[in-house]
Amino acid sequence: MMNKILFLLLLPIAAWAGKLPEQLAVPGGIVKIGVGEGHTNAPKVFYDGKRVLVTKDEQSWLALVGVPLSAKPGQHSLQVIGNNEERNLKFNIADKEYPAQHLTITKKRMVTGFTEADLKRIEADKIEMTKAKAVWSEGPIDADFVAPVDGRLSSLFGLKRYFNEIPKNPHNGLDIAAPTGTPILAPASGKVINTGNYYFNGNTVFLDHGQGLLSAYLHMNEITVKPGDVVKQGDPLGTVGETGRVTGPHLHWIVYLNHTPVDPALFISQDIVRLDARNKK
Ligand code: ZN
Repeated sequence: MMNKILFLLLLPIAAWAGKLPEQLAVPGGIVKIGVGEGHTNAPKVFYDGKRVLVTKDEQSWLALVGVPLSAKPGQHSLQVIGNNEERNLKFNIADKEYPAQHLTITKKRMVTGFTEADLKRIEADKIEMTKAKAVWSEGPIDADFVAPVDGRLSSLFGLKRYFNEIPKNPHNGLDIAAPTGTPILAPASGKVINTGNYYFNGNTVFLDHGQGLLSAYLHMNEITVKPGDVVKQGDPLGTVGETGRVTGPHLHWIVYLNHTPVDPALFISQDIVRLDARNKK
């Protein structure tokens, strides 16, 4: 009984101290900026017109800003609104050169020569996924992530990509290769926003971890959750597969902050070495 009371007393403090991602002030990275003292109300923060996640860290309010891969190095600014004032906070982005990756896709209709029906479907997919990615929920966040799959780190975030020598968008996620059927687990608590089968992304799940911190799981074999489901860290979402545009079974894992894909490795720095070690075996 005594222990339970003690636990309840400690809980609010523990809730603040959840692990946050690493900072990396480059395109595709995350910038953590103090935006107010902890005893005041949380300010509303915007970057490039988009709402930014604000969480409590020890004594202060901290904004977690997702920096787009397309961001120019140099000075950027945050708009901070709260406690009867509005101000701009400046921060700097350093340059980062991401390597190029050349992939051969054997399913030709995944790169060129789309049929009328394919194009229709690609357009419909885009509309549905844009809706999923726009979700914002107020309240506490859970950024205390573990790797969603036990596998081999097969491709890093940010690579400039060429499919059959045609330049495509840079790699907006982290690839973890594992055999088809390997369980995919929720990296942190969250709510299922959307599940679907999409032309390029295959079977996909979107999770909401609060205030625009979203994660997505692509190319899945099986999906075992549905929109509205609430998951805890370690709950199954489905299994690894090779649906959509792939060269083999793997999870393409995306993490979003303020509508921006950021490097998922920044959330699981404790797991990255173990996943990468499998490349050397
Ligand atoms: Zn990928």
